[in-house]
Amino acid sequence: MRDAVDPLIDAVREDVIGWRRHLHANPELSFQEHETAAFVADRLAEIDGVEVSRPTETGVVGRLVGGRPGPTLAIRADLDALPIVEATGLPFASTREGVMHACGHDGHTSILLGATTVLAGLRDELPGELRLIFQPGEETLPGGAEALVAAGAMDGVDAVIGLHLWAPDPVDTLVVRPGRLMAACDVFRIVVQGRGGHIGIPQDAIDPIAIGAQVVTALQHIVSREVDPLEPAIVGVTGFHAGDSIGVIPQTAVITGGTNAFSPAVQELFERRIGEIATAVCAAHGATCSYEWTPGYRAVLNDEELTARVASIATELFGADAVRSGTPLMVGEDFSAYAQLAPSCFVMLGAGNVERGITFEHHHPRFDVDEGALDHGVRLFVHSALELLSSLPTRAKELAR
Ligand SMILES: [Zn+2]
Ligand SMILES: [Zn+2]
Repeated sequence: MRDAVDPLIDAVREDVIGWRRHLHANPELSFQEHETAAFVADRLAEIDGVEVSRPTETGVVGRLVGGRPGPTLAIRADLDALPIVEATGLPFASTREGVMHACGHDGHTSILLGATTVLAGLRDELPGELRLIFQPGEETLPGGAEALVAAGAMDGVDAVIGLHLWAPDPVDTLVVRPGRLMAACDVFRIVVQGRGGHIGIPQDAIDPIAIGAQVVTALQHIVSREVDPLEPAIVGVTGFHAGDSIGVIPQTAVITGGTNAFSPAVQELFERRIGEIATAVCAAHGATCSYEWTPGYRAVLNDEELTARVASIATELFGADAVRSGTPLMVGEDFSAYAQLAPSCFVMLGAGNVERGITFEHHHPRFDVDEGALDHGVRLFVHSALELLSSLPTRAKELAR
């Protein structure tokens, strides 16, 4: 099979790079991926044997049904870009001021289009079904995955895989990690309600800035004193908005931020304690506060058995030295929404290259990926699909047992 597959992968290589550059030059923000979704749907429609549907406004799902019965494997890519002014100077840099593919989702989409093209060429020998999920809005809560799941994108799926191009790791390497891979993330918003007044008459005012500053500091106490030091946990305040005049003590201060953790118990602790601490600090100084907690993405936890199989496929393709089990990451990913419904494996695919100056972190204005990683992604998806479709147990079989 390998001999038949490799020429097909070679044949699609230039297209994948071309698609990535097109998408990179034409980025769209979360849930506004209209042109991107149309581009994906058009490319899928050109591939013989792929049925295309548009279950959500900017989500696209392809189905490739093989020539024999078998399990259903979903593969997921994401479509959205970020509100960042691109500063890479690349010839195919963003043509849309203030919008940039600074996380590599242009690459994910192109990789999945390339893998679909190759697998469609092998359709007759393919058992089962491939479900190709192109989701919008990974970068913005509530994420695009849940809506696609609700629309049935995962119905009948026996396993799901996905990848993230990962610039902190060198190209030609990948992390295939069982268990904890990426943390859950939630967000909070606190409004400190004081009493406005004159800067020169502070005794008659209740200063929400001075109180809010104490709230920010006190929140760090949760991680340092209330969470098991061996349990990863982050409370990050990323917004503090109050006041617009030197002489005026404002009425309110708005504090926003997010938390990251793997343990649901830590998530519950954060939800409860952030509110309690904010309320108590405000009360100590005569202010009140309102508190909102919004659940974000669940943690990405890779299925042990499926991940072991993907790791062995990757080792065969790229060599034992290229494949690592890595360490957990504290960033969030809504790939976890699919993992609620089937065994899952999410891979971090190295895309950095120090010699070529590709060293900037994700979400940086000069972020880029080594395009050599695109080919690795196609190979990983194609070989994983071939291997898993011929060996995964199907749900129908499980039910019959
Ligand atoms: Zn991102
Ligand atoms: Zn991303």
